[in-house]
Formats: sequence, C-alpha cells, structure tokens
Amino acid sequence: MREWEPVIGLEVHAQLLTDSKIFCGCSTRFGQSPNSSTCPVCLGMPGSLPVLNQRAVDFAMRMIIATGGEVATESVFARKNYFYPDLPKGYQISQYDRPIGVGGSITFILDGQQNSVQLNRIHLEEDAGKSLHPEGSGDDYSRVDLNRCGTPLIEIVSEPDIRSAEEAFAYLHALKQLVEYLGICDGNMEQGSLRCDANVSVRPKGQKEFGTKTEVKNMNSIRGVQRAIAFEIDRQIAILESGGEIQQQTLLYNDSDGKCYPMRSKEESHDYRYFPDPDLVTLEVAPDWIAGVKAALPELPLKRRARFVEQYHIPEYDAEVLSTSRTLADYFEATVRVTNNPKAASNWIMTEVLARIKDQPSDNISAFAITPDRLGSLIKMTLSNQITGPIAKEVFEAMLTDPAAPEDIVAARGLAPITDTSELERIIDKIIEESPDEVKRFKGGHKKLMGFFVGSAMKATEGKADPKLATELFNRKLAE
Ligand code: ADP
Ligand code: MG
Ligand code: ZN
Repeated sequence: MREWEPVIGLEVHAQLLTDSKIFCGCSTRFGQSPNSSTCPVCLGMPGSLPVLNQRAVDFAMRMIIATGGEVATESVFARKNYFYPDLPKGYQISQYDRPIGVGGSITFILDGQQNSVQLNRIHLEEDAGKSLHPEGSGDDYSRVDLNRCGTPLIEIVSEPDIRSAEEAFAYLHALKQLVEYLGICDGNMEQGSLRCDANVSVRPKGQKEFGTKTEVKNMNSIRGVQRAIAFEIDRQIAILESGGEIQQQTLLYNDSDGKCYPMRSKEESHDYRYFPDPDLVTLEVAPDWIAGVKAALPELPLKRRARFVEQYHIPEYDAEVLSTSRTLADYFEATVRVTNNPKAASNWIMTEVLARIKDQPSDNISAFAITPDRLGSLIKMTLSNQITGPIAKEVFEAMLTDPAAPEDIVAARGLAPITDTSELERIIDKIIEESPDEVKRFKGGHKKLMGFFVGSAMKATEGKADPKLATELFNRKLAE
C-alpha cells in the first residue's frame, strides 16, 4: 500500500479585545441586546465613512512582532465583495495584497521537540454579524444580530507546513496561548472569539507537489480541529486509494459524529473582486510605533516556561502546566514570593488549585477565592509544621468559602496539631491496647503495620496527630 503524507495549513481568526469596533465607535461588549450596538458605519449605510481604530492596529502589531514577522510600514485595506447575509454592506473590509504583517512563525513543543510553523501573513479585517436560524424554535424565519458587525479581527494564515492532526493541535494551542499572553484576544474557541479553518490535502510520500485541498470549517474547540483534520485526512486517503479525485470544496465539521460534510464548492480569490477601499487611506506605521510595541511585549510563553525550570528548579512538566496561561503563571510566581519554596507552590497549584479551577465555569484563576497570598500562607504553615498535611487540605477546603486568613481558620476551628506528647501518648496507648493482633504481628517482623498504627492515630485525632511524632512514639512503645 502507498504511504500518504498529510499537508495542512490553518487560517485562524482572532477577535481583538478592543472596547470599540474597528471602523466606528460602537461598543464590542458581548451580550448586549440584539442590534443595539450599531451605527450607520457598521450598518453599512450609504454615505457613512469608516475611521480606523488605532488600538486594533496596535494589537495586530503585538502579534506580528511576537511571532517574529515583519510589520509593513504601509498596508492597504481592501473590499472583499460577497453576499454576506449578516454584513449589510455587501463587502467585508479586509486586507488583500498588502497586509499589515508578513512572515513570522509559531513555535511550540510537540513530543518534547521544539517545532516551528511558518506564517504566511497576519492581516486586519472586520467581523460580520450573526444570523440566528429558527431550528427548533418553531419560528419560520431567521433573525440577524448585527452587534458583531465591525468587531476587529486578525487573521493569522500559516504556510502549509503542518503534517499531522496532532501538530495542528499543538500549533493552535500555542497560538491561543500567545494571544492570551499578549492580551489581544480571550482565546475562547467555544464562544467563537478564536475561529479556525483547516486546509487539508494529502500526497503520496516523497511527492513534491501538493494535492488538491479542502477547507474544513465549524470547529469550536482545539480538540475539534484535531478530530476534524484526522477525519478529513482519512476521508481523502480513502477516496484516492479507491481511484477517486478530491474535489476542492468547503466542508462543515459536525462534532457530534466527528465527520465533515460538504457545504459548497470553494470560491477563488478573484471571485471576490478585491479592490482597495476608497474610503480608507493607506495605513502607515512609523518605526517608533513599532519599536514602542516591541518594547512593551510581555515575556512570551516558551521563554517563561524555560525560565521557570531554570530559576525555580521545577520539573519541565510543572513549568509547562504553570505557564499555560499568563494569569496562572502570575499566580504561581506570586505564591512563590510568599512561600520561598517553588516546588511546594507548584505541587499545591498543580493539584488542589487546578482541580478547583476546572470546576469553575470561567476557567479563570484571577477570580479564584484563594489568592496567592492566602495560598502562600497556608503552604508556609505546612512547611513549618504548624499544621499537618491532612489538616492543610481541610483548611484549603474551608478557604474556598471562608475569606479568613488560614491562621485564623486553624485557630477558630482548633486544627492545630497535637504537640503535647503526653496527650498523643494516651491515644497511642489506647490503640496498642485495642489491637493485640496487630501488635503481635508487628513485633513478629511485620513492620508494614506501622501504616495501620499511624493511620489509627490520625483517625482518632481527626488528622491532628503529627505523623512523625506518632511514628516515633509507636516505635518506642512497640519496642518495649
Ligand atoms: P485560498 O486562496 O484557497 O484561500 P491560500 O493560498 O490563501 O488558499 O491558502 C489558504 C491556506 O491554505 C493557507 O493556510 C495555506 O497554507 C493552506 N494551503 C494552501 N495550499 C494547500 C494544500 N495544497 N494543502 C493544504 N493546505 C494548503
Ligand atoms: Mg483563504
Ligand atoms: Zn458602529
């Protein structure tokens, strides 16, 4: 059987987090009542004139510079003509032959290997509105909400450098992480603020020319993109192996069955009759603007991850998880500043904290009830044996709903460990007295039973016995 090589290029649209739209002053805030955030410009009224949002340009430049691309000192907005039911102008303002960003790459780590996918371009454009179709509602008409019309987007177009569905996943994950770090997009694929179209073709291994590609749309998670691409690769291989030909077309992915369905035959770019928008002048970007954006870039994800390993001596895996988002990385570093013990901070965050964040709908650590200061104090109490491990977990639970400092929670609930040896001795004597069998077996060499004894002491004290001290006392008494 022939071996096939997949070829994949991704086009990603990222909604920019500006307060207002790209060519008018309307608010971009999510969830406003339908069609209320509109004006003659974004409604496409004749005679209205667009004015470019400077912040949108600034955000696009951040991404271009962060990916090592070149910011064009002159770029041009063009009209892409098409019948869009949710874009009343009948054209979308985009960039065509002179985009603001050229080249660059997205770097990520896949199976322990650093990998780069080259970018073709990054350009600015406006979003369309939303059509709301009647499916299931009982209505026999569609509605349109134009609030999203004119929301600024950047489109990030990769070269066809990607060779597997897994690599596409890693690329997208890194891209999402980057826009979040840069503060230019919330990266939410479920809500559509990050959208990905996947171009997929296959060719016999060793062949230089690309095969005919299809474009898959409608994925709403990074995993969905990976699944859609994997499906499409298999579909194309099956067609080619049975002697068929690939139709150049656009397919819609359906996440409930994991399959892709044909939507339309694909337009060629000349069908859009692009031409420079006569209402907008050439966008000129002065070198000192570029330099200013560059100087203000935050530390980027891969750099931060490497620094975590180097500076805090935490394992590569911890560093990867903790640098997933900028807010999580900030949370970790703030906790380390309090505890002075990076590994302890990492352990607590990677287990207890992340388990809780997953339960929260927003997935956002900035809103987490336990701030780094409070977590840090709790960790410090365990490190200095002011509380035992099991009690620390209990205090952590309490802190989720109780805003008091961990010290106060421990005091108020009487959770301090039993440091009074004679009190602990009384408890231990009782356990020994009540477990003659275990004592006999322990004395006969069954030393593993120490776990049973210490566990019983923990139970009897509701976790307040210091396990080290309890072990010591048991050893002494059982040696008698
Ligand atoms: P189109 O004009 O059809 O939109 P482009 O040349 O603009 O095509 O490329 C769109 C995307 O498709 C880019 O991400 C590019 O890397 C990718 N691409 C181009 N040719 C192929 C191919 N044969 N197989 C897979 N991806 C491709
Ligand atoms: Mg395209
Ligand atoms: Zn408007």
